[in-house]
Amino acid sequence: MSIGRLCYPAVCAVCGKELILQENTLCLPCFYDMPKTYHWQLLDNPLYTSFASFPNLAGAAAFLFFRETSPYRKLLHMFKYNGISEIGLYMGRLFGKELIHYYGTRCFCKEGTSPVLIPVPMSSVKRRKRGYNQAEWLAAGLSAATGWPVDVTAVARVTEKRSQTVFDKQARQENMKGAFLAKHLPYDEIILVDDVITTGATMESCAGALRDKNPRVTLAFASLAYVE
Ligand SMILES: [Zn+2]
Repeated sequence: MSIGRLCYPAVCAVCGKELILQENTLCLPCFYDMPKTYHWQLLDNPLYTSFASFPNLAGAAAFLFFRETSPYRKLLHMFKYNGISEIGLYMGRLFGKELIHYYGTRCFCKEGTSPVLIPVPMSSVKRRKRGYNQAEWLAAGLSAATGWPVDVTAVARVTEKRSQTVFDKQARQENMKGAFLAKHLPYDEIILVDDVITTGATMESCAGALRDKNPRVTLAFASLAYVE
């Protein structure tokens, strides 16, 4: 029995059915029905092409589709708002296994090297309020499956902007300007990790801060969910 099971009822995070001993986080039917994007099998996927305004991106992949009517929304909601951070660890592991299976350890990056995972940071105020940064848990899961190291100190969120839910992409980009500041960045390749990508304005802003600090760095994006 995992530690997670002692902390919350052992029910499926999607359908709520009680889990049997061999199941973890999801029941078997929900596990096999996961709405995977398979972005990692196609460089020119819809998520990647949505970042056309961010030049020289090495790759972009989300693990699951985040559809309005999908029962899997519950999983993301529990992860993001209900404090069930183990879901991020678990899903990150599954995602990491897919990436490793398809690419080997180099992922989107150059032959013979491997990337560093950087979770998109929250402001310290927001982090205190929520108690954890869900992107860090996802990165930890990815790291557990792939062996890629995680750096949680390379970039900081310097301002927490207004809620973005009412903005279109251009307004979001404007709203996110200067929201991140990168520190020491001694890496060749970075995969920036976040829980959900909607318009991509947060990813672009954070990645822009990384590139300002180290213009030669190869960048790729990974998220748990992609809003179509
Ligand atoms: Zn289920």
